[in-house]
Amino acid sequence: MESFTYVRATDVAGAVSSADAKFIAGGTTLLDLMKLDVERPARLVDINRIGLDGIERLPDGRLKIGALVRNSDLAHHEVVKADYAVLSEALLQGASAQLRNMATTGGNLLQRTRCMYFRNTAMACNKREPGTGCSAIEGDNRSLAILGTSKDCIATNPSDMNVALTALEAVVTIQGKAGSREVKIGDFFLLPGTTPHVETVVAPGELITHVTLPAARKGSKQVYLKLRDRASYEFALASAAVVAEVEGEKISYIRVALGGVGTKPWRSHEAEAGLLHHAADGASFHRAAAMAVREARPQSENGFKVELTKRCIAHALTLATRNG
Ligand SMILES: Cc1cc2nc3c(=O)[nH]c(=O)nc-3n(C[C@H](O)[C@H](O)[C@H](O)COP(=O)(O)OP(=O)(O)OC[C@H]3O[C@@H](n4cnc5c(N)ncnc54)[C@H](O)[C@@H]3O)c2cc1C
Ligand code: SF4
Repeated sequence: MESFTYVRATDVAGAVSSADAKFIAGGTTLLDLMKLDVERPARLVDINRIGLDGIERLPDGRLKIGALVRNSDLAHHEVVKADYAVLSEALLQGASAQLRNMATTGGNLLQRTRCMYFRNTAMACNKREPGTGCSAIEGDNRSLAILGTSKDCIATNPSDMNVALTALEAVVTIQGKAGSREVKIGDFFLLPGTTPHVETVVAPGELITHVTLPAARKGSKQVYLKLRDRASYEFALASAAVVAEVEGEKISYIRVALGGVGTKPWRSHEAEAGLLHHAADGASFHRAAAMAVREARPQSENGFKVELTKRCIAHALTLATRNG
């Protein structure tokens, strides 16, 4: 690990950064990558004492979540469990209890891919070192993406939380030198295209201050279903976050987001279009699931993800629409 300077910020105004600096929150992604020599910040700005660790119901019913709220506190918060169950479930299926006690909302939003070549400085990787090539396309790509890929990168966004935030249509507030701006979660993550090293709209030096969830949809049922190689402490091969409302026999509101299969948390507008105003039954679910993967581009080792994703979506929809 190269040497770096360490600064502890005590308020948001003091949490200023620059192109060669990084904020450190829980450190569960950043320190890991610094030890591997993948991240080499010249300056570390510790933001753990700047506040931003509260969860607040706003007068209009929205829920404001500070960027420094720990994943475990968010998952176990009474309002989150009652009104945003998909978020609580997604968080609790991520990492381990110890990691969730450290990991923060802001850090989770910006966690990096688990592609093995990104984490190995001996291998070519466009995301780590632009222009060097992508070792995964001809290499070990079993766990990588089938949606949103490019010829330069096929890495998945590994987060569970981000999939739930996508289904909930969260808004991220970002503080920069010129002031604060709000970005819808659907616009927050970028496709890799020819610039896979640019993953989000957060510019160097900008601070995520909080995430806001729309007012709760009291009549909705919410499910996060995560399929993985082992039951705990493992990233998703495919996951689905579903927020659904059924009136009579028909689906009157639906949001479907996918994890483990997209280069960013993947909102499936195709699946939603195939479900809205249609019967909440198996035939609709299977048709919508097929629509969700119509544009899938599997690689040499991850073709199985197409069928896995379909089954994941159909089962999550079944769970989210069944009575009781
Ligand atoms: C062994 C292991 C297993 C895991 N399994 C899972 C899993 O199954 N599912 C899952 O979803 N995740 C998993 N994770 C990832 C984990 O959820 C993330 O590491 C964690 O959420 C990152 O949060 P942090 O606060 O520790 O971030 P940090 O490491 O502190 O920061 C991560 C990045 O975000 C930046 N940053 C942090 N906060 C801010 C802010 N407020 N504004 C601007 N930039 C900021 C940092 O500069 C850094 O670039 C796993 C991690 C490990 C190590
Ligand atoms: S898939 Fe992306 S992260 Fe993985 S080696 Fe290729 S460029 Fe790097």
